[in-house]
Amino acid sequence: MTSTLGLGVTRIAVPVPFPEAGGPANVYVIEEEGGGVAMFDAGIGTREGKEALEHGFAKAGLSFGDVRRIFVSHGHLDHYGYARAAQEASGAPVFVHVRDHDKVTGRDRTPKRLDLYAAYLSKLGARPSLLEHVRVHFQDFRRMARPLEQVEALEPGRVLKFKHFSAEVLHLPGHTPGLVCLWDRENQVLFSDDHLLERVSPNPLLDLEGHDEPVHKALVEYIRSARRVRELPVQLVAPGHADPFSGHVEIIDRLLFFYEKRQSRLLELLRQRSPQSPADLAPQIFPNAREHHLYLTLSEVMGNLEVLEAQRRVARSERAGRIVFEAV
Ligand SMILES: [Zn+2]
Ligand SMILES: [Zn+2]
Repeated sequence: MTSTLGLGVTRIAVPVPFPEAGGPANVYVIEEEGGGVAMFDAGIGTREGKEALEHGFAKAGLSFGDVRRIFVSHGHLDHYGYARAAQEASGAPVFVHVRDHDKVTGRDRTPKRLDLYAAYLSKLGARPSLLEHVRVHFQDFRRMARPLEQVEALEPGRVLKFKHFSAEVLHLPGHTPGLVCLWDRENQVLFSDDHLLERVSPNPLLDLEGHDEPVHKALVEYIRSARRVRELPVQLVAPGHADPFSGHVEIIDRLLFFYEKRQSRLLELLRQRSPQSPADLAPQIFPNAREHHLYLTLSEVMGNLEVLEAQRRVARSERAGRIVFEAV
């Protein structure tokens, strides 16, 4: 599906094979000042993704050869998956925030990096049999996104000039460490990718960035970023999935309330029994989750525990190599 947003922007919706994403991924094709177009996000590298993108370009009277610059909002495969192919077809540079470079180049998926994830997840209490699911899940990624070799830094605060508007690069860590949104202050349009979606919460995921333990406290940072966006006078949100919408304040408030409720529930569980590991807590929060969702459920539980820890409502300690928490 292709639709125009005004401002010389065409939105191409690209199907993605995971329903939890919140709908087709959006590629925004933006008219450049000196002719040609820029892309904000690059869809996914599946056959369906390629076809949808080609169809959208053709419908707009364009080909990949018209692409001058490619901006990737964050290092998830439904946003950078087709960037390598678009780069090869156009010779255009690809810009990504430095903290997500290892994701788009595949360096965050080397065997050594996967070992770090396995070690950390087992430190959170995950059984070894479950870790293989995570490894397989991670390796699936390559089928849907060819790693990039040439990536440029997308600096926060930089103002991108297009033919009909300018947009500031906002670094809004949370969903990933290097996520950026584009903010057109004059027209009050926020290109929010996965930082803000209308119907799904954006899953701040556990991210090691090559360390033994995360420096990036995903949900702590996500909440800070969401509060920052809440203060912007946004009229229209052009998201990373599904249709544009307005009313960002209500959506952010609802999301913050949802996380507060989840934190209260974790605190209640820790008051009933302490200490518990994140893996002890995960099935109590997500009783219906399947084994292969371990990475998602542990990310969610750990993210909320880190928020409670920052508020000094829970305390962390290590017992026999495991991280455990207790209510304080
Ligand atoms: Zn994402
Ligand atoms: Zn996405």
